[in-house]
Amino acid sequence: MFISEELLIKCAEEFGMNLSDDVVLKFDTYAKELVNYNEKVNLTAITEPDDIVIKHFADSLAFFKYSGIGKGDSVADVGTGAGFPGVPVLIAGDNLDVTLFDAVNKKLDFIRHLLKELDLKANVVHIRAEDAGKMPEYREKFDYVTARAVAQLRILSEFCIPLVKVDGKFVSMKGSISEEEKTNGISAFSKLGTELYDDIIYNIHNGDERNIIIGKKISQVSSKYPRNMGQISKKPL
Ligand code: SAM
Repeated sequence: MFISEELLIKCAEEFGMNLSDDVVLKFDTYAKELVNYNEKVNLTAITEPDDIVIKHFADSLAFFKYSGIGKGDSVADVGTGAGFPGVPVLIAGDNLDVTLFDAVNKKLDFIRHLLKELDLKANVVHIRAEDAGKMPEYREKFDYVTARAVAQLRILSEFCIPLVKVDGKFVSMKGSISEEEKTNGISAFSKLGTELYDDIIYNIHNGDERNIIIGKKISQVSSKYPRNMGQISKKPL
């Protein structure tokens, strides 16, 4: 094994997940492929096996504890990069319908390669989230939309919430965030038909603080959102 099986199992248990042997092996393959591929394409600064387990895999598995996702639900990961949290969610989830969006195709080439190695299926889409949010096949189509470490909450909300079904949830995963970012983000939620559902601060295995903010979509988003990137960054909600 490349990663410590014991550490992975322990970290996953901290988020209420019992991983089967097959799932543990898949995470081991993921870590190996990530480190190998990272030598030719810059995907992550985290390459030490224990760090991969704690900061990437277990951090992604926190999604299960706080989101409430259930068997067969659809979930989109916006700005998946090297696959976080979307690929761990696909590996450990119960028959989830997973879509992985990113604006940078060379990162998605890694994801396509990885999914072949893992023998798993997901929709891998090279697109900017704000473009996907205008397309009928993606707009208001997902039970859950998540993103980790992609943008400030009010900008991220405009990227992600148009993709969420009414009654679905937007799950923002970040390191610790300022009160100002939170307040602005929650104000953006209200312009996008979304209520604050939960705001959780927790620690990962090494003690680092993390923040998950969850919005519940109450009504459809106005057709004026998402705007294009120029407008989003010049005049964030
Ligand atoms: N979520 C991964 C993680 O936690 O390791 C990657 C985080 S990386 C800092 C941000 C990623 O978001 C990059 O891969 C970038 O290409 C992607 N991204 C940024 N803005 C985006 C947008 N508007 N639509 C789609 N992808 C975007």
